[in-house]
Amino acid sequence: MALVNEHFLKLPNNYLFADIAKKVNAFKVTHPQADIISLGIGDVTQPLCPAVVEAMHRAVNEMGTKEGFRGYGPEQGYDFLREAIQKNDFLPRGIHLDIDEIFINDGAKSDTGNIQELIRWDNSIGVTDPVYPVYIDSNVMIGRAGVQEGGAWSNVTYLPCIAENDFVPQLPDRRVDVIYLCYPNNPTGTVITKDELRKWVNYALKNDTLIFYDAAYHAYIQDPEIPRSIYEIRGARKCAIEFHSYSKTAGFTGVRCGYTIVPKDLTAATLNGERIHLNPLWNRRQSTKFNGTSYISQRAAEAIYTPEGKQQVAQTIGYYMQNAARMLATLRGLGFECYGGENAPYIWMKTPEGYDSWQFFENLLYGANVVCTPGVGFGPSGEGYVRFTAFGSHDQTEEALKRIESWSK
Ligand SMILES: *Cc1c(COP(=O)(O)O)cnc(C)c1O
Repeated sequence: MALVNEHFLKLPNNYLFADIAKKVNAFKVTHPQADIISLGIGDVTQPLCPAVVEAMHRAVNEMGTKEGFRGYGPEQGYDFLREAIQKNDFLPRGIHLDIDEIFINDGAKSDTGNIQELIRWDNSIGVTDPVYPVYIDSNVMIGRAGVQEGGAWSNVTYLPCIAENDFVPQLPDRRVDVIYLCYPNNPTGTVITKDELRKWVNYALKNDTLIFYDAAYHAYIQDPEIPRSIYEIRGARKCAIEFHSYSKTAGFTGVRCGYTIVPKDLTAATLNGERIHLNPLWNRRQSTKFNGTSYISQRAAEAIYTPEGKQQVAQTIGYYMQNAARMLATLRGLGFECYGGENAPYIWMKTPEGYDSWQFFENLLYGANVVCTPGVGFGPSGEGYVRFTAFGSHDQTEEALKRIESWSK
């Protein structure tokens, strides 16, 4: 008899976006004429930029020739892309990475979910709350999160990020073995300053804590003082793994490519206290379980670092950030309390007095035919907030704002 991994059964059945879809579909049944605009799901909408498309075409043609054909690639990624990352994403900010500290992946979701394989099942974990669900769910699946009690997991330390603390999490009052941080943040759209991030690195060094740092939205940072990478902080090479993705940077949600940094200085302990380097461990894990990202996707990613690619990608990000600015201005003008949206494509809005997250979601759906994401779906501290994304088209965003305006009056 094969026994099932029962930890999977602890996962909540309903996935946030499935719940939203269910409610939207129920609305559609009773209001078949309604034209619904979604400012909910976190997917991009603008097409791939020309530099990327051309690079993909070239790569496909190459693969169709005897000389240019490539089979299995290196599991860690091709050097052409790893070098482009090293030179463009890190060197200009004073960060020196070795090529073999860079692991190309098929996106940050996979690696933020898989990375916990490197640590024992009984490590304690800390997450900011609200949080990107992958961090917790991947730990639930192996039994590290404990049991769920009233919306929270028993072995997870939650670090609330709420208006009252300016969305900057307090250092935990007990030590935790692993902490997940994500900046710019999904869902709150807020960022962390160098000084605040330094506190976390120092905490990690002092407490022998491992930081998993998700930088999927680094390309949206407008303020030059805000760190793009945790390695801008001295000492982070000894305590942090960092995740990047081209999904939000360059519209790669359907192409699939990103990368993970595992510094060679980084170690974790055995029960006997021996220090083990994590870089070779991750290399071993990837070589065994991952077949690499396709050559075509990696050539596409490389094209983002050409002068044309950089300019085109920046233009698309500017397009989304224009939406964010319009949303912030309109929503604040209507008296709503809004956060984020200045260095990230998300706006985190406090629901008006008397509405919880889901009540506001339903009222907005029925009153303005606009879909947002209920904040409580991202964790207990998300209650009383909703998330709007800036990933829509200009026209749709303007139309949605117009409707919210007339609905709220
Ligand atoms: C979208 C997103 C990612 C990127 O996921 P991919 O697998 O690269 O598409 C990672 N982390 C967060 C917080 C995200 O919102």
